[in-house]
Amino acid sequence: MSVDCIFCKIVNGAIPSKKIYEDEDIIAFHDINPSAKVHFLLVPKLHVESLANCDSQHQALLGKLLLLAPKIAKEQGLAGFKTLINTGREGGQEVFHLHVHVLGGGEKQRKTLA
Ligand code: 5GP
Ligand code: ZN
Repeated sequence: MSVDCIFCKIVNGAIPSKKIYEDEDIIAFHDINPSAKVHFLLVPKLHVESLANCDSQHQALLGKLLLLAPKIAKEQGLAGFKTLINTGREGGQEVFHLHVHVLGGGEKQRKTLA
């Protein structure tokens, strides 16, 4: 838990979100500024800044995050989807709490390095 982290605040309920999944390790909610018809974020409850801050102790968590993407995408009615993990400021990351974007259903714009 990091006091100034927006996603930690969503995890602990201090900031509301359109939550679509939750278990003991992970929460998923719709992105506030969607880049596709369906755009949700998979977020570990543990505060880790980015993929670049992960190591072997996060291996199971990373696997769990990725395995949830197709499961929740299907529940959201997506036949296919894109996944994206922006890492570091240079990688387009704006919220420094690890998260996986899942986008599908006709993108309005592409989330890239620009
Ligand atoms: P990043 O660029 O860090 O990979 O993506 C951060 C994402 O978080 C952005 O797509 C942004 O729209 C989303 N986001 C930022 N603040 C909030 C918030 O308070 N609630 C929700 N649901 N999404 C947020
Ligand atoms: Zn956090």
